[in-house]
Amino acid sequence: MLLHFEIVTPERVVLKQEVLQLTVPTKQGEITVLPHHIPLIASLQAGVIEIVMPNKQIETMAVSGGFIEVLPTKVVILADTAERAADIDEARAEEARTRAQETMLEKKEHVDFTAIQAKIAKEMARVKAVRRHRGRGSHTT
Ligand code: ATP
Repeated sequence: MLLHFEIVTPERVVLKQEVLQLTVPTKQGEITVLPHHIPLIASLQAGVIEIVMPNKQIETMAVSGGFIEVLPTKVVILADTAERAADIDEARAEEARTRAQETMLEKKEHVDFTAIQAKIAKEMARVKAVRRHRGRGSHTT
C-alpha cells in the first residue's frame, strides 16, 4: 500500500513520488503518516522529514516551515524551503546559523528577533538532516 507524496516550495517541486510512509515535524509534534491516515491539515515546524521509499530506503529532508495536507492516499507538503539531505551544503548552513546567532547577540535596535530565531531553526534543521543522513551511512548521492 503506497501513498502519493509531493513536497513543493515556491521555487520547485522537490520530490514527487510514491512512498510507504513519512514522519514530519508539525507544530503539534512529530507525526507519522501511513496510507489511510485520517485527513488533516497541520502547520510544519523547522525540522527533519523522513520518508520511507517503496524499496525501504529512507530519504531525509530538511524543512523550514509550511503546511502538510494529509488525505487517505495522498500527502502534499507546501514548504517555505525544503532540501534533500544529500543536497545540503553543511558548511553553508553552519555559517548561516553562526551569522544569525551573532546578529542576535549584537542586540541592535531594529533587529527582528522572531525572524532571526526562525533563521536559526531553519539552519539547525539543515545541519540535523545532513548528520542524520550521514549517520545512516548514506555517503553517496
Ligand atoms: P544563506 O543564509 O546560507 O545565504 P539563504 O538565506 O539564501 O541562505 P534560504 O532563503 O533558506 O537561504 O534558501 C534559499 C535557497 O537556497 C533555497 O532554494 C534553499 O533550498 C537553498 N539553500 C539554502 N541553504 C542551503 C544549504 N545549506 N544547502 C543547500 N541548499 C540551501
